[in-house]
Amino acid sequence: MSFQALGLSQQLLNAISDQGYTTPTPVQKQAIPHILAGKDVLAGAQTGTGKTAGFTLPLLHRLMENHDPHQKPRRIRALVLVPTRELAAQVLESIKTYGAHLPLIAEMVVGGASINMQIRQLRHGCDIIVATTGRLCDHMNERNINLSSVEILVLDEADRMLDMGFLPDIRRVIGNLPKQRQNLLFSATYSAPIKALANQILQNPILVEVAKPNVTSDNISELVYGIARENKRALLSYLIGSNNWQQVLVFVRTKHGADRLEKQLVTDGIRSAALHGDKTQGARTKALDLFKNGKVSVLVATDIAARGLDIDDLPHVVNYDLPQVPEDYIHRIGRTGRAGALGAAISLVSPEESSQLAEIEKLLKRKLPRIADTGYEPVSLNVIDAPKKKAPNKETGKKDFRHSKPAEKKGYVARNQAPGAKPKTQGSRSRSR
Ligand code: AMP
Repeated sequence: MSFQALGLSQQLLNAISDQGYTTPTPVQKQAIPHILAGKDVLAGAQTGTGKTAGFTLPLLHRLMENHDPHQKPRRIRALVLVPTRELAAQVLESIKTYGAHLPLIAEMVVGGASINMQIRQLRHGCDIIVATTGRLCDHMNERNINLSSVEILVLDEADRMLDMGFLPDIRRVIGNLPKQRQNLLFSATYSAPIKALANQILQNPILVEVAKPNVTSDNISELVYGIARENKRALLSYLIGSNNWQQVLVFVRTKHGADRLEKQLVTDGIRSAALHGDKTQGARTKALDLFKNGKVSVLVATDIAARGLDIDDLPHVVNYDLPQVPEDYIHRIGRTGRAGALGAAISLVSPEESSQLAEIEKLLKRKLPRIADTGYEPVSLNVIDAPKKKAPNKETGKKDFRHSKPAEKKGYVARNQAPGAKPKTQGSRSRSR
């Protein structure tokens, strides 16, 4: 099937062809005709499936059907709610890309950016707003924004918004929208809260399901390194250096852990940046740009900041810490192997994380392949042998589980190195990269 057959306008077809897309992805094929027909849609689609174009293209088409060029100031006719600022920036970019030949104006309303600038933009008027809920609610409180003309509401990555506790804000926003509107809900997973939200806001929705939830892409090769926690950093530096990896997204559990690992990797001579929710928006954007432009090889990120990122041809994802929520494993490794490219997802798993690994494998319904020889003393990842899991350690959590002793004290030595020698890293070699 071609894009022409979907019924999109010529301007949109031109923008699609500017991007070099020839065939709609499955979610686009299934969702676009229903959205064009004005139906509510509940779509189960992960990032990497082309879902953003799946809702953006028909949204732009529908807005153009009754666009009034004389309307001054412009009214907000479409609202896209997303969980993170990074995703907001990405969706806005997509809207601008696909709407390049259209006279529509889109703006972003997110935290961490100048509120006065946003107030000016809102006063000036726009057709589409991409927003995170917190800042949107701030503008609603201050009566800076009028949502009474919204015709289309999109909830993108709705499951993540609920995970992040945004349901009350979502409800408040929806309470300010006209009752008569089109609703599009995109979610990677169908949990009970997502179903409940869908029941509340969608009217006779069309169900679109492209990738079965809890399935990872065949393009991604996955590996588990069983490794003592205290050896993870040396192994990571070694893997990056010895394989000359140029672009690696590394997931850690805590903001503090992200900053610490970034500094350690820099000490090891690896150009790195950190991305997490405590950074200012400017610092987050800069870190992401440095990574996307190849100025740093490693981006150390927490889940909260990394969800929904679309980085072209990202070849390597490393789980430095396993996620607390098994589904996040799928989201994390979905940053690689996108749009048909090949990718590698490597998990450095310490014995304390054995039960998290077991949960992930239960969800995936398969065992992840283990590396037999990590170069370090083998560790057991059997749940029975592993110490009991400690208190939850989410990004916002305080208790960070530590090993009691460093590797040397336990007599662990990297196999290929002399006792007492520094861990193998790319050291000075990579400094010149
Ligand atoms: P998304 O799932 O929306 O994050 O999109 C994943 C990636 O797929 C983005 O980099 C898009 O530019 C790309 N993409 C979207 N639609 C198509 C298509 N029909 N053909 C090729 N690439 C696409």
